[in-house]
Amino acid sequence: MLNGDVRTASHSALTCRVCSEIMADGEVRTLHEGPDISVVIPVYNEEDNLAPLHRRLTSVLQALGRRYEVIYVDDGSEDRSLDRLRAFTDCDSHVRVVELARNFGQHAAILAGFSLARGEVIVTLDADLQNPPEDIPKLLAALESGYEVAGGWRTNRRDPTLRKLASRVVNWMTRLATGTPIHDHGCMLRAYRREIVQEILRCEERAAFIPALANLLARRSAEVPVSHGERVFGRSKYSPLDLLRLCFDLLTGFSLLPIQLVSLCGVVVALGGVTFGAFLLVRRLLVGPEAEGLFILFALLFVCLGILILAVGIVGEYVGRIYLEVRRRPAYRIRAVYSGGSDP
Ligand code: UDP
Ligand code: MG
Repeated sequence: MLNGDVRTASHSALTCRVCSEIMADGEVRTLHEGPDISVVIPVYNEEDNLAPLHRRLTSVLQALGRRYEVIYVDDGSEDRSLDRLRAFTDCDSHVRVVELARNFGQHAAILAGFSLARGEVIVTLDADLQNPPEDIPKLLAALESGYEVAGGWRTNRRDPTLRKLASRVVNWMTRLATGTPIHDHGCMLRAYRREIVQEILRCEERAAFIPALANLLARRSAEVPVSHGERVFGRSKYSPLDLLRLCFDLLTGFSLLPIQLVSLCGVVVALGGVTFGAFLLVRRLLVGPEAEGLFILFALLFVCLGILILAVGIVGEYVGRIYLEVRRRPAYRIRAVYSGGSDP
């Protein structure tokens, strides 16, 4: 706040609330040092997408007429993404490039970008251009109207059918786990007020699922319909197994519901077993001994065994999460940060 450039601006939700002062003549004087908007983009093997992305993003941000920065986080790419990103810093002073030590995953990369973002509003965007940067103003307008978080909602999603189905399951589970009525938790075209991002960083969770966490923290969050395109270059980094892992992460990271459901199942199965036992006893007294029904017993045994294994798995998932948390290993490691001139 102290050494920032001093300029006057009309009052707006995008100017820093902490650093804005209403002067005697009624003007709002902004003493904020950082930019108004930070755009954080995780990048993992996206070399062919980066040039069109940067071109389109820059023209959107310049048209807004606000101070901005773009933070690209290279998440251990094995292609030439990092070289391409570093080339941006030579000719564009708005760009900073964070190089992570290895591939830590999309959400860890976004957290690394958050830790360096200085904007009053922080926007996240994928590097593959599936979400067009041209939709960013819609999200900013939602924040201007008082929301703390604005998330994109891909109403016309252009992904393979199987992928869309998997996302539906993930979204349904997230709604169940967090209790927030959001349709699209997976869309990473989102905008957050700075306070929310700071709270997310304070959470220090190993497997943070950023959109769900932000919606839990925000007083008001909006869902804004955005367009969606097919990936032109490269391919999705999420396999079906990754999505399954994400589901488990979401359920155990945000709620105790699974374990409560399993306990409930245990009670129902136990009661069922007692009732069935009583029924068999009565039958034996009335009809006499009989060997039929043995396979039904086997079937019941397998059902119980399945529930038991599931219960042990879910308990294991929670224990695993606790283990990850107590180890307190960092979610990512920043190797270097490049900005104008490309010197780390
Ligand atoms: N990404 C990343 N690290 C990873 C996987 C993905 O930084 O380990 C980035 C990727 O480069 C892209 C974004 O996260 O910018 C979304 O990835 P992707 O398009 O593969 O996900 P999908 O659209 O299939 O959900
Ligand atoms: Mg994508």
